Formats: sequence, C-alpha cells, structure tokens
Amino acid sequence: MSDIVLNEVSKSYGGVSVLDKVSMHIQSGEFIVFLGPSGCGKSTLLRMIAGLEQVNEGEIFIGDQRVDQLPPNERGVAMVFQNYALYPHMSVRDNMSFGLQNVGTPKAEIARRVDDAARMLEIGHLLDRKPAQLSGGQRQRVAIGRAIVRDPKAFLLDEPLSNLDAGLRVRTRLELAQLHNRIKATMIFVTHDQIEAMTLATRIVVMNNRRIEQIGTPMEIYSRPATRFVAGFVGSPQMNFIPVTAVTDAGGRAAVSFAGQSPVHTGVSFAQLPGSNLTLGIRAESAQISRDGQGIEGVAEVVERLGERTLVYTSLGENITLVAEDEGISGVQPGDRVHIAIDGNAAMIFDEAGKAYHAAG
Ligand code: ADP
Ligand code: MG
Repeated sequence: MSDIVLNEVSKSYGGVSVLDKVSMHIQSGEFIVFLGPSGCGKSTLLRMIAGLEQVNEGEIFIGDQRVDQLPPNERGVAMVFQNYALYPHMSVRDNMSFGLQNVGTPKAEIARRVDDAARMLEIGHLLDRKPAQLSGGQRQRVAIGRAIVRDPKAFLLDEPLSNLDAGLRVRTRLELAQLHNRIKATMIFVTHDQIEAMTLATRIVVMNNRRIEQIGTPMEIYSRPATRFVAGFVGSPQMNFIPVTAVTDAGGRAAVSFAGQSPVHTGVSFAQLPGSNLTLGIRAESAQISRDGQGIEGVAEVVERLGERTLVYTSLGENITLVAEDEGISGVQPGDRVHIAIDGNAAMIFDEAGKAYHAAG
C-alpha cells in the first residue's frame, strides 16, 4: 500500500515562513482535501508532495520510500492542474499517450490504457479532437485521463474545478466522487471551497496561517471543530459567535449568559473551562425560532427565505445579532419580536485562544 506520510514539513521563501512543521498520515485510497483560505500554503504543500517545490525541513514518504529529495518523475504521483496544461497541437489521444511514450511504454500497452481511461471517463468519442475543440469540463476529464493512464500511487489536484462554471462544477465534482469510488486511488485535492471539501473528502485537512488547524472527516470538522477558525470557515451561514458575559456551573455543565438573556444551558463540562473571555458558538440550525414563547428573545431584522428553510437575523441587544433558522414557510417578518430555542448540546464554547470545548459524548 502507498500511504503518504508528512513529517514536520516546513517551507519558507526568502526567509518568510509559509508552512511550519506540517505532519499528516494519508492512508492509501483516501480522498484527502486540503481546505483553507487563499495564501495559507495549500498549493505549496501539494507541490512539495509532487516534487515541484523543495522542502526546507522535514520528510515526505510515499509507501516505504522517502521521496522528498527525489525528482517529480520518480515519486509515482500525478498532478492535475487547474489550467489543465494540455498540449494544444496534440489530439486528446496523443495528450494522454505522451507521458507513457516518454518512458518507453510499448505501443499496444499505451493504446490499452488510453482506451480504458477514455471509457472510464466517457471521452472515447473525443480521442481524435484537439483541446480547443473541447468544453472546459471535457478538458478537465482529459487532464484526469492523462493522469490515470500513468497508474499513479496518488492523484494530486490543485483547485481543478475552479475554472468551470457553476453548473459544470457541481457535475464534475460528482464525477470525481464517482471516479474515486471506482478506482479507489489516493487523491489529494486542494480547494478553498468548503462545499467541495465537505462533499468530496474522506478526511479534510483544514489549514490556516502556515499550520494545520484540524484533520477530520467532514462531519467531525462540521460538528466538532477543534478551533474557532475551523468552526467559522466551514458551514453556511457562518456559525454565530457570541461573547459570553458570565458562565455558571449547572449540574456540571456550563450555562452561559449574554446580552441580558436567560442563560443558555450547554452540554460542555464546566470544570474544564477557563473562567473568562469565552465565546459561545451556535450554528443557525441549532437556534430555531420557537412558537411557545420559550428561549432567548430578540427582534427579527432581516428575513432570508431560502426555500427549504428561512434564516432570521435577530438582534438580541447589546449589538449582538444571531442568525436563527425557521421553517421554509415562515410567518416571521422584519421587526417581529421572536423567541429562539437553542440546542445546548450542539452549542460549543471557545476560549480566548480559539480552542473549542464541546458537549461531552
Ligand atoms: P494557497 O494555495 O493556499 O492559496 P500558496 O501555497 O500558493 O497558498 O502560497 C502560500 C504562501 O506562499 C503565500 O503567502 C504565497 O504568497 C507564498 N508563495 C507561494 N509561492 C511562492 C514563491 N514561489 N515565492 C515566494 N512566495 C511564494
Ligand atoms: Mg493555491
């Protein structure tokens, strides 16, 4: 099996550090997504795995082999670029064959692999065309096909969907998921788009500011973010962050107060919390408009009707706005006084450094 292991990998450009002691263990066959804001070092990290950038410190292993000093063509990985990098004067077949011809693969073997990949990607009817005669989505498939024929130990994809228009992006995303299900190859996919990360990844590596914030399955990242950064980066609308003015012990669990509201009872263990500078984190779906007059109280300011649900931006006083959720068909109008029931077990608390505390179990 060819697991990919990164051991305290660091990188700087001209004395400016862009990645600081990044470590991870990618299992063979995983679909790993590097997710983070622009400039956080995702592409640099991917390019170091591919061998297109040198590491300054640390080790990279693919399978049993240490590869960080090897040239790209000896690492057995295939990179798929955002701009496809197809040769414009060559047919699709020649684009897909080129890399294998260069390493002296027999002609019949090349033809077999290209035909297999073309069938898998449903581009068999395009093999005689030139890239200019293809749509963006078709070029993307050719670029992936060119990687598939090399039978790499891993596919490295850097924002491969970002040049596609919205509809095609969703379709290509689905195709990529299906392709991974079929060929079960290790894939490392870079994106700043949380939806792509949530939908494609077996595990997401959330990166920020030169470091890994968290590695986890999409639902771990979503439901139990390790830090305030992760909590705010994943999920739409963004999680509500509310400064807590007081925290009390309610039977071992923390009850938090803010904006003169009745305390919100969370599932977070009181004993482990620092005493001050806490922030409550609640997703909109855990703050439901209630009809029984229970819960915290505020005034609806903006009502966004999304069809299947309604978002109610609610002023709680003291300059605090909470995005709450209501059913798709909602009678709430701007200016209405509303009550909001908070699901305390889904609420989380962040300390001053941004570390998250979750409900026990
Ligand atoms: P991302 O892909 O997450 O948007 P990059 O890996 O491209 O981020 O870049 C990470 C940081 O490294 C950025 O601050 C970027 O400006 C810097 N950087 C990337 N490549 C170079 C380079 N060749 N020379 C100098 N700085 C670079
Ligand atoms: Mg990038």
